[in-house]
Amino acid sequence: MKIGMSHGAGGEVMGDLIKETILNNLSKKSVNGGISLDALDDGSTIPMGDYEIVLTTDGHTVNPLFFPGGDIGRISAAGTINDVSVMGAKPLAISNAMIIQEGFPIEDLDKIMKSMNATCEEVDVAVITGDTKVMEQDKLDGIVIVTTGIGIAKKGEIITDSGLEVGDKIIITGSVGDHGMSLMSFREGFGFETELKSDVAPMWNLIKKALDVGGVTAMKDPTRGGLANCINEMAKKSGVGIKLQAEAIPVKEAVKAASEMLGIDPFEVANEGKVLMGVKAEKADEVLAAIKSEEYGKDAAIIGEVIADEDKVLIETAIGGIRILETPIADPVPRVC
Ligand code: MG
Repeated sequence: MKIGMSHGAGGEVMGDLIKETILNNLSKKSVNGGISLDALDDGSTIPMGDYEIVLTTDGHTVNPLFFPGGDIGRISAAGTINDVSVMGAKPLAISNAMIIQEGFPIEDLDKIMKSMNATCEEVDVAVITGDTKVMEQDKLDGIVIVTTGIGIAKKGEIITDSGLEVGDKIIITGSVGDHGMSLMSFREGFGFETELKSDVAPMWNLIKKALDVGGVTAMKDPTRGGLANCINEMAKKSGVGIKLQAEAIPVKEAVKAASEMLGIDPFEVANEGKVLMGVKAEKADEVLAAIKSEEYGKDAAIIGEVIADEDKVLIETAIGGIRILETPIADPVPRVC
């Protein structure tokens, strides 16, 4: 069997490859009893004294390199910063490894670096190490960026994606589908003049506000495979069910219009500036208010709650119909991050 595009698109096909061919070939996947690679969480942890170090890494192959609302520099920084942040850890620094195609314009690399820097500055993250490689013109498409992020949390304050408990409220920090749909529309020729913009953003400042209120039980960023993939993964890992209210899930009009035109479900495409979290019911309103006070959280909403019905994600429509929100086979938009 050979690798297909769906092996890198989130969803079940990628999940099977990771389990069977990657995890099964590794023997030591955890240090000091910290969160293991096997957990397939957003990051892993290394407990050290009173603290836990969080480590995560992410390769970026987004196409095109510059798109409405962002570019590969911003996504490379934000994606990794967000994976550290949703573990409940303060992101400290990233490493930046770039593999660049021979012939790539240095002006474009300059733009990418400035964008990466501005993204890191928003959340006071340093770029402290990196690597630069060049490949022959016919061997690579533009540039590939791999960032690794490190962060820190007090012991006992790590938030996993598996901590949901029955009765918790589910909060999404803003509208879904923006990144995937804007990228897809741009590729389809709508250009930069569209209302659709990627939501790519570093989320630590918003997450910190929520953590300061307390009551957050689980967090994850709904990237590849979108909300549908993320919520199913959280439910499955937590051993609980979830009931969402379709009407409560924020989707921008422009995203709705584009998704109807392109036949793509906005719940199944990537977000790059959103967080999905479970929050204790009694804290949910206060956490929501804290999130809404942040620039990237003004459209945040409570979209459902955790129920005892094991592993199933149900979604209730305005007219009272209920359907199962399935894990997508793969993100319908390739090379999205
Ligand atoms: Mg993640």
